[in-house]
Amino acid sequence: MSDTPVNLLDLNLPALTDQVKAWGQPAFRAKQLYRQLWLKQTESFDDMSDLPAAFRELLKEKACISTLRELLVRRGDGGLTRKSVFALPGNETVEAVLMVYPGRATVCVSSQAGCPMGCTFCATAKLGFRQDLSPGDIAHQVLWAQRELQKIPTDLDSKAHRHKVFGPEDVPARLTNVVFMGMGEPFNNYDNWRESVNRLHDPDGFNFGARNFTVSTVGLVPGIIKLMDDPMQINLAISLHAADDEIRSEMMPVNRRYPIADLMDAVREYTAKTHRRVSFEYVLIEGKNDTKAEAEKLADVLMEKGKFPMHVNLIPLNPVADSGMTRSNRDQVTGFRNYLENRGIPATVRIQRGQDIDAACGQLAGDLAKELAAQK
Ligand code: SAH
Repeated sequence: MSDTPVNLLDLNLPALTDQVKAWGQPAFRAKQLYRQLWLKQTESFDDMSDLPAAFRELLKEKACISTLRELLVRRGDGGLTRKSVFALPGNETVEAVLMVYPGRATVCVSSQAGCPMGCTFCATAKLGFRQDLSPGDIAHQVLWAQRELQKIPTDLDSKAHRHKVFGPEDVPARLTNVVFMGMGEPFNNYDNWRESVNRLHDPDGFNFGARNFTVSTVGLVPGIIKLMDDPMQINLAISLHAADDEIRSEMMPVNRRYPIADLMDAVREYTAKTHRRVSFEYVLIEGKNDTKAEAEKLADVLMEKGKFPMHVNLIPLNPVADSGMTRSNRDQVTGFRNYLENRGIPATVRIQRGQDIDAACGQLAGDLAKELAAQK
């Protein structure tokens, strides 16, 4: 037996029950513990007051509530956007972002520390691959967000009004969306990612609805194929970013392995099988993929074999240090969107949150945390 603490959030209720029994405790303690972890999102064993003190001591010695250690939380947008930086045992770091809107709250979570996919416009890619997160460590970020969300009604500042949040009544009590759009490529850590969804979905636990999860991929075709046969109705988003193989391969090395035609075949098969709408993300970079010709190519690629339920999210590039790329200007963005709309493709420009705290898409770089972790 190793001395590594048992990561409790990795375990479903039957596995937790086995573990609790192996520690010589009655099985019903597992249910109590599971309730504390998933229903109450309790942060520390000391706060689990319905558990006997001796059992809490044992837990402190032998177990942990995920291996992530919260290093800091940064606030932006009047307190409506919060980025948490977590350290893993080896001091790698990951980040999660909570975004609150009137009646809606989304958490964007990481599935890996660093990322192996190498997209040239993304800050996380510069870290390279560091490590996969376990199911519990992925889920932990969602529990963090739920706890953080509960603090918001008493913790707003006046800038929140700019985002149409005027008072506590506008802040939902529960998270409404979980998006796997933080650091890492979920389909490159498929089994752990998928298990994190199971952990969060469990009706006896956090009970988060399948339809409120969205997974985003660079376009790993085997992952898309796996997901289309999955009975759980998880939403799919594809980071497309270019409709031309040459441009896309330059931006996203994965395109050499799974070029646009193969990716689109998989997506069409996915929608035919699941009847679910697919979102496409398209980051707009000045002079790279934002011209009229590129908008035409995009519409052609999406409509090539007939229309299917789809939506395009246009994301003006968020600044990333030393990338040498700039975002498209407002007119270019509007023109691009209008062109798609005229071709019958629903498209929206995504309103960006968290740019002031380096929490927007593609800005999760882990730099700040590295410094902090090194000091500890
Ligand atoms: N690896 C997955 C999950 C990351 S999601 C994927 O690629 O889909 C993060 C989203 O932000 C992706 O669509 C990604 O392409 C996009 N993104 C990355 N860098 C960005 C930047 N600098 N500005 C805007 N969006 C960016």
